[in-house]
Amino acid sequence: MFISQNFDAGNIEVIAATSADDIQLAIRNDAESDFYQWFYFRLSGAKGVNCTLKILNAAGAAYPPGFKNYRVVYSYDREEWLRHPTELSDGVLSFSFKPELDAVYFAYFTPYSMERHHDLVAKSLQSPRCSHQLLGATVDGQDMDLMKISLPGDANKRKNCWVIARQHPGESMAEWWMEGCLEALLDESREASKQLLQHCNIYLVPNMNPDGSRRGHLRTNAAGRNLNREWENPSMEASPEVFLVKQAMAEYGVDFLLDVHGDESLPYCFIAGTEGLIDWTEEQQSQLDFYRDTLAALNPDFQTELGYPPKARGQANLTMSTGQTATQHRCLAMTLEMPFKDTTATSDAVYGWSGARSKKLAHSCLDAMLRYFIEKY
Ligand code: ZN
Repeated sequence: MFISQNFDAGNIEVIAATSADDIQLAIRNDAESDFYQWFYFRLSGAKGVNCTLKILNAAGAAYPPGFKNYRVVYSYDREEWLRHPTELSDGVLSFSFKPELDAVYFAYFTPYSMERHHDLVAKSLQSPRCSHQLLGATVDGQDMDLMKISLPGDANKRKNCWVIARQHPGESMAEWWMEGCLEALLDESREASKQLLQHCNIYLVPNMNPDGSRRGHLRTNAAGRNLNREWENPSMEASPEVFLVKQAMAEYGVDFLLDVHGDESLPYCFIAGTEGLIDWTEEQQSQLDFYRDTLAALNPDFQTELGYPPKARGQANLTMSTGQTATQHRCLAMTLEMPFKDTTATSDAVYGWSGARSKKLAHSCLDAMLRYFIEKY
């Protein structure tokens, strides 16, 4: 019996594994940080054996309620990820599992590896609509990829829309969302995508945090920075990922921003706006409401009743992408949140919230963007 995690996005420490019914594990901290919650590991050599796996430090994770009513994802082929019940008791997250094969993978959510990220970039570039700009390098020296999607013609007459994902690397559903977004935008038989691209050029950063993704972090980059608190004053030393994207935004302009995330605790899809801006207007509120209501009408997995309470006027956090970008570029800027667990109203017993559902939601988000640019902008 062996537990391994030395691969792309792997994260676990073995505390003790002397018997199969008491495999004691702990999640490793993000580098230079106290955050942890993402885990991803392989159990091998336990075919047909009743195993009990225990994550001993669940109570100290960044969002302990995230482990309440939580089901771990597992896979034998790393294609299909299924759910399995867990128990949270005395701060320990545990689950019993009898592997059917010699090796089985467990993770906090369906992983999206950096290798798959490179596949996504390479595949997308096969489309004449898609071009790529290397913005620079991360702290670990990985590439910061910007994908530009536009139709031929006068790009200057169109709006410039930005979609960024995975500032928090453990929120892998955000890059599944991106995969769905790119596939839909580049599908030439999809009329709604063509219409949308007649209104705007779309700039996508499919992965804002490659280092955290590869290292198996929950929330920070290789320098221990929470990138969604770096937007006011990013630096090339500590947060080059944000510095480089902010610089590109200044160059191309921003008329719309969607920042894609996952929420550990809340079992809903929702959008948070920038109501706390000091100069928030009724017009901005109406744009935000229009986008959210349109999306809810398009996709039953999205709802507008529950989410983060809006901030009071003057309380906006300008270190976050949305607050900073809405201030600097005077545009609609929103944070999309998807669950780690599942949506309560549209739950799925087998898969829970999944990569496939994240991709579908991306399609609906694009369709809501089209309606926004036709009817509201
Ligand atoms: Zn997040």
